[in-house]
Amino acid sequence: MGREPIITVIGSINMDLVVSVDRKPNRGETVKGESFDTLPGGKGANQAIALARLGATVNMVGMVGDDAFGYELKSNLEKENVQVEAVGVTEGISTGVAVITIAENDNSIAVVSGANEKVTPAYIREYEKIIKQSDIVLTQFEVPISTVEEAAMICEKHGIPIVLNPAPFEKLSDSLLDKVTYLTPNQHEYELIKGYKRYFENDYQSKLIITKGEVGAVFFENEKPQIVSAFTVQPIDTTGAGDTFNSAFTYMMTKTNNIEEACRFSNAAAALSVLKKGAQLGMPTKEEVNSFLS
Ligand code: ATP
Repeated sequence: MGREPIITVIGSINMDLVVSVDRKPNRGETVKGESFDTLPGGKGANQAIALARLGATVNMVGMVGDDAFGYELKSNLEKENVQVEAVGVTEGISTGVAVITIAENDNSIAVVSGANEKVTPAYIREYEKIIKQSDIVLTQFEVPISTVEEAAMICEKHGIPIVLNPAPFEKLSDSLLDKVTYLTPNQHEYELIKGYKRYFENDYQSKLIITKGEVGAVFFENEKPQIVSAFTVQPIDTTGAGDTFNSAFTYMMTKTNNIEEACRFSNAAAALSVLKKGAQLGMPTKEEVNSFLS
């Protein structure tokens, strides 16, 4: 494809509230925190921003609450050139948040889905026109699974490819697996899917791309796993590496339709993303990826 692709992301929009402490408080105890940061996140929003940096025209389909975080997150998406016509604001429910406590060697996370739960099948049907006009769709499991199933159905109806990043892990039905074009679990999610689904690997090999952290990514060719090696870098913060990989993969498949080439490009984008702190900060532009690869 010569022109830049039009890509729709259906997914979560969260504010990450990050507290750093020396050690986690015991039950009933108060400890002094070291620092506090509010960082835009949510797999949907992260992946939408990574795609926009790569040059795609991106439509985000999602929902925030009628609160300060919601408005901030929506304007952050706009600032990053993501189209927000399909980002709704729901009253009476909070914007999605992830409360992350970072203690030495012991991080803990509590996620409140909030408005992300309102990204329902009926809601995304309102935006069928946007989905229909896309070159490809990217989604994850931080919105209800019934919504992901609806998205796959709409895509099938209109012949639009759909990439599902099955994170966080949810059990996938055969009918959903049949409809998705590519499935991109990380190693952990892959093991969980294999654990409950017999013949998963045999039946769905051609759709599978497994990310394996610093090892790289694996896809299957003629029933043989092919490793596309990661680039060797000194990571500062790997948060968002998976999101960057997924966006770069989705973008590149519209350009080349070659899984190996797309994995190489995505490994490069993800390697660049781990060189900066925070999920969104390190997501590279297309020029940065190309110059890293040249
Ligand atoms: P995260 O949840 O941290 O965003 P993930 O678990 O979804 O990531 P991973 O499989 O850990 O996904 O990483 C995704 C991709 O990021 C890998 O396939 C690889 O290309 C790149 N990557 C991750 N960690 C490193 C690293 N230490 N060095 C180089 N590349 C890395």
